[in-house]
This record gives sequence, C-alpha cells and structure tokens, in this order.
Amino acid sequence: MPRTAYVNGRYVPHGDAHVHIEDRGFQFADGVYEVVSVVDGVFADEDGHLARLSRSLNELDLPWPMHPMSLRFVMREVARRNRVRNGLLYVQITRGEAPRDFRFPVDPAPTLVVTCRATKFNAPQHLEKGVSVITIPDIRWARRDIKSVALLPQVLGKQQAAEAGAFEAWQVDPDGTVTEGCSSNAWIVTQAGVLVTRAASNRILNGITRLSLLAEAEAAGIPFEERAFTVEEAYAAREALISSASTFCIPVTRIDGRPVGDGMPGPLGRRLRQAYLAHVGVADPVAARS
Ligand code: PLP
Repeated sequence: MPRTAYVNGRYVPHGDAHVHIEDRGFQFADGVYEVVSVVDGVFADEDGHLARLSRSLNELDLPWPMHPMSLRFVMREVARRNRVRNGLLYVQITRGEAPRDFRFPVDPAPTLVVTCRATKFNAPQHLEKGVSVITIPDIRWARRDIKSVALLPQVLGKQQAAEAGAFEAWQVDPDGTVTEGCSSNAWIVTQAGVLVTRAASNRILNGITRLSLLAEAEAAGIPFEERAFTVEEAYAAREALISSASTFCIPVTRIDGRPVGDGMPGPLGRRLRQAYLAHVGVADPVAARS
C-alpha cells in the first residue's frame, strides 16, 4: 500500500514528500520531534508526548505550527491513511525555510512533517532473552532534555552498538554515571530490589515512557529511586531495563558482554512491562502474536 506523509498542510505520497534545501532542520538541525507508538489503534501516552513537544518548542522559542488539537487530528489522519494499527508515528517540527543565517528568521513559518509506519513491536526473543547494551562516552550537548532533531551522537552510538552486536548503547558521563541509551532511558534493579533510573535534568531526555513507568511503580508499591548510577553498579545489578515509546520496557541481560544477574530477564522488568501495557490499555503485542 502506498504510504502517505503530511507536510506543511498537505497529505502527499511518501515518495513525493519533501522539505526545502533551505529548511533550517536540514541546515542547522534547528528543530524538535516526537515519536508516539500506535498500539492496537491507541496513541500510547499521547498527552505526555504532546506536553513534551510543547516544552521542547518553548525551550527553543519555536512557534507551534498549528493548534495542538489540530495536530492530534492530523496524527490520526496520517495513521488512518497509512492503515497503521500498530506502528510508530513521528512528528517533526523545524524553524522552517529561510535564507541561511544562524539567527532566527524574523517571521518564521515552521515546517511540520508527520509520518507513520507499521512496526512489529519488540521481537519475542527480546522479551524472552533480553537485549545487550554496550557503554560509550556521552558526547552530547548540555540540553539533552530537549527532544532535538540533532541526533548525530546517537547515530554514532547506535552504529557502534550495531557493530558490537548490541541492541543499544548506554551513554556515560565523565564521572562514570550512565545518562541514558541513545534512544531510550536506562534502568537497573539493585540487589536489594530497588528500581533505579536517573532523575530528570538537562543531562537526559525525560522519557514519557519513563514517567509512566515511575507512576506505575509507585502505584504498585515497587521501591524506586531517581538517581544516577555508575556503570559498575549496573554490572552488579540484579536486573537492567531500557524504556522508550518504541520498546515500551525491555530487559537488558548483558552490559559490555557481562551477564546481568543470572543473564535472564527478571521478574520486576516483566511486571513493569505488564503494568505499562495495562496503563496504555492494550494487550502485549508480542504476547498476542505468540
Ligand atoms: N532518551 C533518549 C535519548 C531518546 O531518544 C528516547 C526516545 O527516543 C528516550 C530517552 C525515551 O523517551 P520516550 O519514552 O519518550 O520515547
């Protein structure tokens, strides 16, 4: 089926979807984005993603390209036109097309692109065996809390992970603490059974899935701490996890080639994933297929 994208007011065939060469997203990575999973036709954590989009826009003094309610409509229309019931929806907003100049254009006309593609969420083996991560230095800028389209460090990190046969790379600050994955938040479960993930600050992207998982942990009475943890602490953890809109919450069973705990997914991770899916209001898309 031909895919359709939304670009600046028009629904166009995906192959014909373009933005101008002077778009500031292309020239300067002057833009932000969001990724929302569509699970069984439901936009998971949609309010949270739109709230973070609003914050990212605000932090960069970027105007909304349209009213947020209209954006919700466009998101649904793009998913509908692409017949996506399970997939990922991308919203990308840049400061628009303008003659190249570092300074903001006086009267910006932001570019808005919305795309959606079907995906099979989490391969069953990721849940059954877990995934592996490597650790790499965090070479990003100081405003990681903004979901910017400037993703070159993550591109390099993900490539390094792929070349090492790993699923994700955990980025590490100079003090030895893990910040987050290249496209996910990082979690461990200590030997005492405490769930730990880094506190929200400018040093990480405050994942929307992360926030929902913390709320679920709180509701379920699971002890948790929002604090930095070191790579050494992660090596010694009982369980480890990553979370994101595209993975929800999946177990990490190897870090830098070392098994985490007994090397198999643990019960707390499984419990959190189920709680997250219940929160979104859907059955586990992996479990449903098997
Ligand atoms: N951290 C980074 C750097 C990310 O790119 C992402 C998602 O793409 C996340 C964390 C997870 O955020 P969310 O749960 O909102 O998808």
